[in-house]
Amino acid sequence: MMPANGLKRVGVIGAGMVGVCAASWLQRDGHSVFLVEAGEPGHGASFGNAGCFNGSSVTPVAMPGVIRNVPLWLLDPLGPLSLRWSYLPTIAPWLVRFVRAGTPDKVRAQARALRPLVGPTLEALKPLVSAAGAEDLLHRLGHLYVYRSEESLGKDRLAWELRRENGVEIDEFDADELRQLEPALSRDYVRGVLVRENGHTSNPLKLIERLLEHFLRSGGEITHARAHGFRLDGRRLAAIQTDSGELRADAAVVCAGAYSKPLAVALGDRVPLETERGYHLMIRDPETTPRIPTADADGRFVATPMDTGLRFAGTVELAGLAAPPDWRRARILLEQGRKMLPGLAASHPEERISVWMGHRPSLPDSLPVIGRSRASPDVFYAFGHGHVGMTAAPMTGKIVADLVGGRPPAIDITPFAAGRFD
Ligand SMILES: Cc1cc2nc3c(=O)[nH]c(=O)nc-3n(C[C@H](O)[C@H](O)[C@H](O)COP(=O)(O)OP(=O)(O)OC[C@H]3O[C@@H](n4cnc5c(N)ncnc54)[C@H](O)[C@@H]3O)c2cc1C
Repeated sequence: MMPANGLKRVGVIGAGMVGVCAASWLQRDGHSVFLVEAGEPGHGASFGNAGCFNGSSVTPVAMPGVIRNVPLWLLDPLGPLSLRWSYLPTIAPWLVRFVRAGTPDKVRAQARALRPLVGPTLEALKPLVSAAGAEDLLHRLGHLYVYRSEESLGKDRLAWELRRENGVEIDEFDADELRQLEPALSRDYVRGVLVRENGHTSNPLKLIERLLEHFLRSGGEITHARAHGFRLDGRRLAAIQTDSGELRADAAVVCAGAYSKPLAVALGDRVPLETERGYHLMIRDPETTPRIPTADADGRFVATPMDTGLRFAGTVELAGLAAPPDWRRARILLEQGRKMLPGLAASHPEERISVWMGHRPSLPDSLPVIGRSRASPDVFYAFGHGHVGMTAAPMTGKIVADLVGGRPPAIDITPFAAGRFD
């Protein structure tokens, strides 16, 4: 029986950045909240990303220019995109939707939908970070995009237009100004664009762990189990089904990142969720580092100064959830990073290098799935945040708390409905 005060027992499936933010916002509303996590909290995609909280990240992946570049990238072994050809038949329907999502009109609509979700990221994260005593892990120094030619800046014209149209303010720099701003950068870069509103964390895992510790100290619980379905009583949720038995709940939220698809299918929602695998390579005690996160716009990777070293993160590999990592993809980042920062040594002892691969949870239109499930008014989705899941997590958590609490969400979530793919 649900308590008369509207407070519920809520199960949040998945303890990545999205699940932990959702659990934290739900707990602040007074609900009794438990996380269900199959692995280690914070060790999914949220572990090894570039750590950027970029409110300016409104540009979908399937931009018209990107789609034109795909054939060239696939032929370039150092390119930012790779496809395991054996995976092509599986991913083909997703790719068709991806290409269709990349028309100028559609990307404008996607950007408009994303801005209210990502724009207030730092504002929505701050209360959680302050309560958790994690301020030292969050920085607001901006995000720098660098270009090797006027031509490559020109290719990004639509992306910058979309950001401007959505209220993102930018500062542009020529080669000399760029040198003053970031002396560590190669002189090959001739143009830079700085977005001052953006922030980053110097340790994504530690940030999640601190938020989780605070959640647990405040009465939250975590169950180590793999969720595989839901027991419904009519349309009302009775329990979350896991490999360790049933967990009673009045409401549930699916935040299982790239692994959310079967849980949505169990609720009658067929969403084209895929994974865009990404890599990072880190150098401990680097000889040089940029001051702020810096994106090489041509190479499509980001260099982020972290507590534990310098992290190069990026690239997209389409190969599904099961294939083993192709560590050459991470090594490419080292080659590119050395070109970006010539002060780095030409070789590093292996003990100072670490590599990682993670699964971005991606829908073809670069929008997440947030909202109510088809089968039950008590089960909600919050997954599929693709390249911007760290950034979008704090607002997603707030929206989830609104939905569970029966309040209209602070922003329009109709573009994020699971049913948009029907
Ligand atoms: C190389 C790279 C760089 C990136 N850089 C950035 C960036 O700078 N900024 C940004 O905003 N985003 C970035 N991203 C994207 C971001 O990392 C992801 O969008 C985000 O981490 C997704 O968070 P999540 O909580 O949805 O998923 P995850 O972090 O993957 O968490 C999902 C959790 O659910 C658990 N789980 C799965 N299935 C079940 C189940 N059945 N039962 C119980 N638990 C389950 C998993 O074990 C996992 O812990 C990057 C991604 C990559 C790969």
